[in-house]
This record gives sequence, structure tokens and C-alpha cells, in this order.
Amino acid sequence: MKSKGRSRLAPSPTGALHLGNAQTFLINWALARQLKWDLVLRIEDLDHPRVKPETIPNLIEDLKWIGLDWDHELPLQSSDTEPMYQALCELGTQGRIFRCHRSRAEVAAAQSAPQDQDHGLRYDPSLRPADAGQPVCTPDREATWRFLTDDRTFMVNDQCAGTHAIRLDTTCGDFPVWTPHGPSYQLAVAVDDARHHITDVVRGNDLLPSAARQQAILDTLSLPIPQWWHLPLVRGEDGRRLAKRHGDTRIASFRDQGVDPSQLIGYLAQQCGCNPDGGPMTAAIFKDCFDILQMPQQDAILSQKEFPWPLG
Ligand code: GLU
Repeated sequence: MKSKGRSRLAPSPTGALHLGNAQTFLINWALARQLKWDLVLRIEDLDHPRVKPETIPNLIEDLKWIGLDWDHELPLQSSDTEPMYQALCELGTQGRIFRCHRSRAEVAAAQSAPQDQDHGLRYDPSLRPADAGQPVCTPDREATWRFLTDDRTFMVNDQCAGTHAIRLDTTCGDFPVWTPHGPSYQLAVAVDDARHHITDVVRGNDLLPSAARQQAILDTLSLPIPQWWHLPLVRGEDGRRLAKRHGDTRIASFRDQGVDPSQLIGYLAQQCGCNPDGGPMTAAIFKDCFDILQMPQQDAILSQKEFPWPLG
């Protein structure tokens, strides 16, 4: 018998939950309930220095207010980084990491092309130290370590976004897996998804390039690759990811304005193609009528004029 799938809601407590986050979490939750996956909550509080621990209770309150629930809550990601360090050691033993002494300015100066928004600053191979590729047994926890990329093409097979062929050496280059503050996002997520037996990762399509980096780590560690579901995002009218400049789209602000969660879900359901008139809808009804195959594939644009409530 095929074992049960498992997915995770993985918010980062770096600020308040906004409309775009709410759409992603709502869909993740609905898919989990439709496909009978186990759903866990994992608060990703490793994103130094952006994490604001005091926002964790609000984050949970926002998720509950929308009507989402989960089967299990994992301890904070920061509470146990030892498995990530062990993974770093394993990558080191295989000669797949090197210690990075370069400053951000040096990495920026070596860019051969303008910075690609999707991939961030590329670490050019010319910056590698002479001993890159040598096995490292006990990597120093106070240092920065980068993953040594090669010319392989990673096929990211995505349930929503289709198949993407991604090379790491030409896009992000050697990416960080550890900094003096601890594991990087890429290492932490890859290791945690594997050790928590996550079979299905549902998140915004801004993280699709990260999937190739996570596949590279998982592959090197002989760990399973989860099924990816990278969802269309909500963007501002300028085409950029939703941010403060697009108005106040925080869930807490809608709540404070007296918006009912069913109104918010009705609006999101309309964007997702399952509620033509945008009328109020509970999360439970959304779960029954949402169809991932009918969802528009392009990112949604939030129009301040057409949005049903004032955006601060
Ligand atoms: N914690 C990340 C975020 O809030 C999501 C990471 C993931 O889903 O892999 O952007």
C-alpha cells in the first residue's frame, strides 16, 4: 500500500502574513485535505537577521483566522540544527563544500552578467579557493561554507509549473549552505523536509530556483526528492512580489478592518478560478471546490482599484 503523503506549512516569522502568503497557505492546506496528506506546521525561524520571533503567535493566529488547521506542529526549526550540521559534515566528507572567505562586495564584483532577480548574486567559480573540492571532515561552525556546484542540469519536475531544466553553476553558482549564524535556508529546508518525511512541498513559484539547489543537496546526501508544487504568486501592479509599497495587504489589517475571513477567502477563491462572483466562502467550502487543474497558471496581479477593501 502506498504510504500517506505529508506536506508542511512553512512560514518564516519575518513579518506579518500578507495576502500572497495567505493564498499559498490556503492552497497548500486545501490540497493536503483533498489528497489526504498529513499536514505539519513548521515555523522556519533561521533566516537571520530577518526573523522576528515576537511575530510567531500572530502568524499562527492569522492562519487559524483564515480557517486553516494542521495535524502536527513541529518544534521551531532553530531548536535543533544538529542534523543540518551533520549533513554539512557529510557534504564535507564528499568534498562538496568549501570555506568561503569572500565578502559580498567581492562576489558582486565578479558578476559576469547583471544580477538575475530569481537567482540572486552568482558566486563565480573564479572566486573559489585553491583547495575547493578537498574533503573537509569537521567544518568550522563559525565560518561560511558554500556548496561546490558542477555543470549538471537539474530537472525540476513540478506538478504546477511543469518541468524546468536548471543549471546551478550558470545561475546561482556556489551557494551558501552554512554561515556563522548557522545553516542556510537551502540546507535547512532540504534536511528538514527529508527528516520530517515531507513528500509534497507546496509553496510560491519564487522558490522554484531554490528547488534545484535543494535537489543538489538531497541528491548528494542520497535523500529523496519531494514532489514539487510551485504555485503562481500574487504580484503588485508593477509586477513585483507583494510588499509594503503595494499597500497594506496584511491579514491582520483586514481582520482589524472588520473583514470576515469568508470574504477574504471568497476573493482568493475568485483569483484561483473557483468562485466566479467572488462571494464569501469558508475555507471548508474552498477545500471542496478548489481544483488545482483549473487554477490560472500566471501570477495574479493585485489591482488596488479592483480590490474590495482599502489597502491602507
Ligand atoms: N519559509 C519560507 C518562506 O516563508 C518557505 C520555505 C519553503 O517552503 O521551502 O518563504
